[in-house]
Amino acid sequence: MGVVRKNASPEVKEIIEWIFIIFENGIRSITTIIGFYLTIRYVKISRGKISRFRLISFASFSISFLFLYLILPFILRFTEFYVALMPFPWASLPFQAPITGSHLTVSLTKIVGWNGVVTTLCVFYIYQLIVFVGTIFLGRRWQCSMLCTFVGAHAEAFGEALPLIPHNKERPRSKVVNPKVRTVLFVFQIFMIVICLAMMVAWGIYFFTGTVIIPVKILIAIERMKYLFFELYLMIFFMLFVGARAYCYYCPAGTLLGVIGRIAGQQITTGLTKCNSCGLCNDVCKMSIDIMSKARAGESVRSINCVGCGICVETCPTGNLQFTTSFLTKYRNRKTGFPAT
Ligand code: SF4
Ligand code: SF4
Ligand code: SF4
Repeated sequence: MGVVRKNASPEVKEIIEWIFIIFENGIRSITTIIGFYLTIRYVKISRGKISRFRLISFASFSISFLFLYLILPFILRFTEFYVALMPFPWASLPFQAPITGSHLTVSLTKIVGWNGVVTTLCVFYIYQLIVFVGTIFLGRRWQCSMLCTFVGAHAEAFGEALPLIPHNKERPRSKVVNPKVRTVLFVFQIFMIVICLAMMVAWGIYFFTGTVIIPVKILIAIERMKYLFFELYLMIFFMLFVGARAYCYYCPAGTLLGVIGRIAGQQITTGLTKCNSCGLCNDVCKMSIDIMSKARAGESVRSINCVGCGICVETCPTGNLQFTTSFLTKYRNRKTGFPAT
């Protein structure tokens, strides 16, 4: 996009801009909303019930999609507005944007000018605050199952139909990812955290002290490769053939939010009723978390990989499971009048 914009005449730029708005923002938003509708229908037909949280999640994703991908970029004429909506440590925006000559500054100032860069940075900081404060109260579910316009929204819109090839022939509807593929995703998770933090440190040192520890050209090349290979092409490939949430296994923002969620007491409690060992909770978990063995032992499921989608809770035929955090437990106890244990 940036290269075409640089060399094109104003008329051509205008046309490209519109095609981009219609393609990335319009078509993506509309197909995702249709996906939500079909998924709700599918869930209703196949299981006969859909939880209140899932309805809230669908509504929240649809609103964030419509607002952040369609209405706001349309009003601002700034289709790459999403760069401000990537939780730390996904993007090096806060350090990179103010540096003249950095990839982001060059591309962003051309589109929105310096005022636009400053506005984008302000939105970025406000969004970080909203995400991290919300995660303390509601766990990783806040970003990963309510706000994320990247994989979260797509996964919940189209997740029921993916992956294209079942992982388990005996239970073809199971979303559990093959253990060998999970090992690969785990290696990617470590790699992504290391590379994102290294980029932050490199840009941060450059930003605060002016010292170049890695030449800016190399930093930009690494960021581009990271984005194109791990965050775009592989994400789409994994989404189709491994599972709708495959990218969430190694998303650096998700990993950090998982740790914060853990500190916030996020867990799936078991033992509300009796577990009948049907295994449906394990089948529907797109993050391949072994819920059943914990339920049979009467223990809570505490995993930093849990995105808080609530599908296991909704699916359990005996109503044995509940998603909670320290805040939610206190809130429920206050509402029901029982003391917090
Ligand atoms: S793990 Fe990352 S991509 Fe997945 S829903 Fe969370 S923030 Fe979005
Ligand atoms: S454990 Fe339950 S809430 Fe967590 S990711 Fe799996 S299905 Fe979703
Ligand atoms: S879905 Fe419910 S009853 Fe079935 S294995 Fe899981 S916790 Fe037990």
